[in-house]
Order: sequence, then structure tokens, then C-alpha cells
Amino acid sequence: MIPYPVDYVRATSVAHALELLSGDSEARLLAGGHSLIPLMKLRLASTPLLIDIGRLPELQGIEFHPDHIAIGAVTTHAELGSHAELAALLPLIPLAAGVIADPTVRNRGTIGGSLVNADPSADWPAVMLALDARMELTGTGGTRELAADAFFVGVMTSAVQPDELLTRIRIPLPGPDRVAYRKFRHPASGYAVAATAVALRYDGHACTGGAIGVTGVADSAFRAHAAEAMLGGFTGSAEQTRRIVEAAFADVRPLEDGFADGAYRMQLARVMLGRALADAVREP
Ligand SMILES: Cc1cc2nc3c(=O)[nH]c(=O)nc-3n(C[C@H](O)[C@H](O)[C@H](O)COP(=O)(O)OP(=O)(O)OC[C@H]3O[C@@H](n4cnc5c(N)ncnc54)[C@H](O)[C@@H]3O)c2cc1C
Repeated sequence: MIPYPVDYVRATSVAHALELLSGDSEARLLAGGHSLIPLMKLRLASTPLLIDIGRLPELQGIEFHPDHIAIGAVTTHAELGSHAELAALLPLIPLAAGVIADPTVRNRGTIGGSLVNADPSADWPAVMLALDARMELTGTGGTRELAADAFFVGVMTSAVQPDELLTRIRIPLPGPDRVAYRKFRHPASGYAVAATAVALRYDGHACTGGAIGVTGVADSAFRAHAAEAMLGGFTGSAEQTRRIVEAAFADVRPLEDGFADGAYRMQLARVMLGRALADAVREP
């Protein structure tokens, strides 16, 4: 289906994008366009004005700081999946980037677009939760930072306000010692029916704790806090794994759709988390 007529402006700076946004309450930002344009074609989203931020130099690139890595919001999935220095410090990122959709989507879709879109089945939310990322949001009044845990607030809803841009994603260093990403893909779309990102920290061979991000399973991606509290001393034993998996999904109301009802989705989630824990654990 062809979208209805819409005005298009390519922003020349973040300040320009914010000025355009504040001038029209129904204007929408366009990054890679791989979520917004399909929604517009289906008439599930509409706007009189598209503000293209996809090529803004201010929003591009990956910066390495002593205590964190800053990723520009319009960095594509493909760039994140093929950056050697980033992979060496945060191997969870290429693990997840490589299983997003297909090469066409990975070459155009951006991490910022994916996070703001907050699709309950998108991959980056689980990864950013497991890496304890912080989101830099910029509006006309200045900049604020939000933890990933406070960023995903519901189905296709993030904490970004209509007059704000997600400008950067900051991931603390040093990253976790051991990581894994396990995803059960929807066979048609490639989105996660259930996926889990596991990040473990070690002191020698002793697991001292970690983080677990889950996507595909509930209204929004979430951190499995109750399960995380049981990661200290994790050795990979079957009994520990069973208890951690049980704790992760104890209070979850699962999504249901034509592909997976709630019970099947929960079973997939349990299996994905069990496998991710087994992938990530360091052999004693
Ligand atoms: C066939 C297909 C398969 C896919 N499979 C997967 C998959 O397996 N896993 C997965 O995770 N994703 C998947 N996607 C989604 C894909 O990753 C999208 O590219 C991504 O979700 C959105 O990024 P974008 O840059 O294209 O955003 P856009 O479509 O341009 O924007 C999405 C939304 O975010 C807003 N926005 C964008 N950037 C910003 C910003 N910096 N600040 C504030 N608001 C902003 C826009 O206004 C819009 O509302 C798939 C998409 C398609 C078409």
C-alpha cells in the first residue's frame, strides 16, 4: 500500500530536528525507516511531516571512553555487528546484531530507531537491559539520561517524549565477563518470539552476579531481577539453572498471538534462557 502524501525534511543538526519537532506536534522522526515506513504504509501510523535524522553526523559513530562506550543513535545494526573494537569489549552486541532480521534491514535499521520504537519483540532492548545501558535523551530544554530499565514502558512505548530525540546510548565499561544471546525467531519476520540476553560477571572462576534481559515474551522487554539475584555462585548446574529460569518468568503475563499462545511462548522463553545460561557460564 502506498502511504498518503507527507512532507519530508532532512534535518541538518539535532537542534534543527528539535526545532522542526516543536513546530508540529504530529511530526515524526525518521531514522532507518524500517519500522515507521511499513507502519505508515499499513495506515497504522500517520504524520504530516517526516523529519529525517538518519544521516546526522552528530548522531553517528561509536566512541570509546575509559568508563563507557557511547553509541550514536543512528548507528545501524550492521555497523554494530561488524565493529571489531566494539566486539572485543562488548561481544554481546555483535551476537545480537547478527540475528536481527536480514542484511537489508540490518543495513538501514538503527539502534536508536529500534529502542525508541520499543517493539516487544525487538532484539536491542534485551541486550541494552543486560548491559545496563543508559539512554541520552535530548530536548529543547537540554539533555537527560535514563537507565534502560526505566526506558521501556509498554507495548511500542518508550520513555522518549514527543519533543525529544534519543541521541546516544552509553554502555558502562568494563563489560560483563561472559555473555550469551539466545533467540527463537519468528519464521516469517525474524523478530524474537522469545529471546534472552545473559551477562555474567566473574572473579576468577566464581560467578559474582549478572544481568538478564528478556524480549518477545511480555508487553515490553524486561530485566529478570528476581533471577539475577540468584546468579552469584552460579556454576551451570541443572538445579541452579532450573531455579533461575523459574524465577525469571514467575510473574510474567505472556504475549499471545497467532504464532505462539502464552503457554508455548513461556516454554520457548524458558528454553532460551536455559540455553543462554549454559552458553555464558564459565566452566569451573
Ligand atoms: C522485515 C523486517 C524484519 C525485522 N526483523 C527484526 C528483528 O528480527 N529484530 C529486531 O529487533 N528488529 C527487526 N526489525 C525492525 C528493524 O530493526 C527496524 O529497523 C528498527 O526497529 C527501527 O529502526 P529504524 O532506524 O528503521 O527506525 P524508524 O523506522 O526510522 O523509526 C522507528 C520509530 O522510532 C522513532 N525514532 C527513530 N529514531 C529516533 C531517535 N533517535 N530519537 C527519537 N525517536 C526516534 C521514529 O520516529 C519512529 O517512531 C525488522 C524490520 C523489518 C522491516
